[in-house]
Amino acid sequence: MRKSNVLAFLIVAAAIALPLLLFPRMIYCSYKSPFIMPMASGNIIVGFRDSYLDKMKQVERKHTGIDIEGEAGENVLASGNGLVTYIGFSPIGGRTLVIRHNEKIKTTYLNLEQILVSKGSQVSQGDRIATIGAEDDPSSETTHLHFGVIYDDKYLDPEDLLKIDYKSISKFLYLKYIEPDFSVSLNQG
Ligand SMILES: [Zn+2]
Repeated sequence: MRKSNVLAFLIVAAAIALPLLLFPRMIYCSYKSPFIMPMASGNIIVGFRDSYLDKMKQVERKHTGIDIEGEAGENVLASGNGLVTYIGFSPIGGRTLVIRHNEKIKTTYLNLEQILVSKGSQVSQGDRIATIGAEDDPSSETTHLHFGVIYDDKYLDPEDLLKIDYKSISKFLYLKYIEPDFSVSLNQG
């Protein structure tokens, strides 16, 4: 190889390798964790296990997910890659969508205004799947998405799942040992 060819090769190789070294996430995923916050704001207004009053039915309930604040008409994003296994209406929480991510983990999206995907469709993390703006979830009167996590048919705190990133992937094992507070009573495919 001529000297100029070697130099050209090195420049091209560096141009390819440098961004990958600087931004290793580019190699496998544009997101840093297997599950992401499904709303842009990420502002949690009602947490998991929080008590709230269901005004319509005048009963106190315990919250089985988290409410994330947003604007009416704002997009809801798929928290992780998966299959849409349920689309329907929940007695508490209104229009509902469920994504199955693997044998153990499902995420649920309630209080939706519009659903943009159909049952059986494969979604990727970050895909637009719905919009918010409904007022069906009694846990908060502010416009919000109700986001839930089901692990082995029990509700877990979504914040525990969202904390796991690719560097701490072994934390998935911990989910198995978290004491669940609620069993899932809805028929969610
Ligand atoms: Zn809620």
